[in-house]
Amino acid sequence: MSHNQKSPVLVTGGAGYIGSHAVLALKQAGYPVVVLDNLVYGHQDLVEKVLQVDFVQGDISDRALLTKVFADYGIQAVMHFAAYAYVGESVTNPAKYYRNNVAGTLTLLETMVEVGIKTIVFSSTCATYGNPEQLPIPETHPQNPINPYGMTKLMVEAILSDFDQAYDLRSVRFRYFNAAGADPAGRLGEDHSPETHLIPLVLLTALGRRENIAIFGTDYDTPDGTCIRDYIHVTDLAQAHVQGLEYLLTGGRTEVFNLGNGSGFSVREVIAAGETVSGRSIPVVESPRRPGDPAVLIGSATKAQKILSWQPQYPEIEVIMQHAWAWHQKRHSGA
Ligand code: UDP
Repeated sequence: MSHNQKSPVLVTGGAGYIGSHAVLALKQAGYPVVVLDNLVYGHQDLVEKVLQVDFVQGDISDRALLTKVFADYGIQAVMHFAAYAYVGESVTNPAKYYRNNVAGTLTLLETMVEVGIKTIVFSSTCATYGNPEQLPIPETHPQNPINPYGMTKLMVEAILSDFDQAYDLRSVRFRYFNAAGADPAGRLGEDHSPETHLIPLVLLTALGRRENIAIFGTDYDTPDGTCIRDYIHVTDLAQAHVQGLEYLLTGGRTEVFNLGNGSGFSVREVIAAGETVSGRSIPVVESPRRPGDPAVLIGSATKAQKILSWQPQYPEIEVIMQHAWAWHQKRHSGA
């Protein structure tokens, strides 16, 4: 191995939205990458045609498969994105979420410890905070998730702390605010099925693939009555993961970081930005509140900026939506 050979990294959930962007960022930084994805929600064609990295179809709960993949590829670090992430479904089917997100992750971590891999970057979420008591939300904010999805991520955070204590497994956990946008070069984007997120739904409406966009609640205590969120470009998230990995590989201790822009946009502002970038008018339907939505979620990411020297490159909502729009147009052209 030459001295500048970089550590091979296993990316679980690398066929999904945020994971696939992280694979691109890792490749760009010169890391050999292997994707493990069970393809329940991931896209295999993406891994093979666009990312062009080694792909293993399988589950994080498959201990024998993990052991083999770790050995075959000489894996030295893991980026762990694989998780179910529909908040509503986590309420109606919590078993699915606890089994996969918590029990599956426990198997992944135990297997890492068994083979001596001591470095992991983990996708957590601002949903671990629950209703904000303070804005912008710092990492020290109390964690009281209000749905099973957020609870699964909080439980993994706790497991990671205990594994650091017991086994010296060092982790960086990123608590994302609202991941949005698409690869600026148009290679990747957001493609959930079913789609529940605001920005893709707004753009699908602009494309005429949906009749209108429902605004969930117009009576919140915010300037225009609609919810405010902190939208962070997925490429900025991906870059943070590479920096978090390098922090750990150069001896950094276990840490937790928020990833957001520190500023928020209302649902109406997002729709207006969608009209600007698409040049089309977007019909809205004012609808009742969605249960479990706090009025405002904005994160402080000054800690990541300070310790990881992370700086978002695409903080403007119009730019985030322009990239998403370009990708949606390409994705749905001629369809
Ligand atoms: N939202 C909306 N209509 C939709 C989907 C979402 O008004 O069809 C609102 C939602 O209530 C929230 C914001 O848009 O205030 C962002 O929701 P999303 O599901 O994208 O992300 P979340 O904040 O739930 O992680």
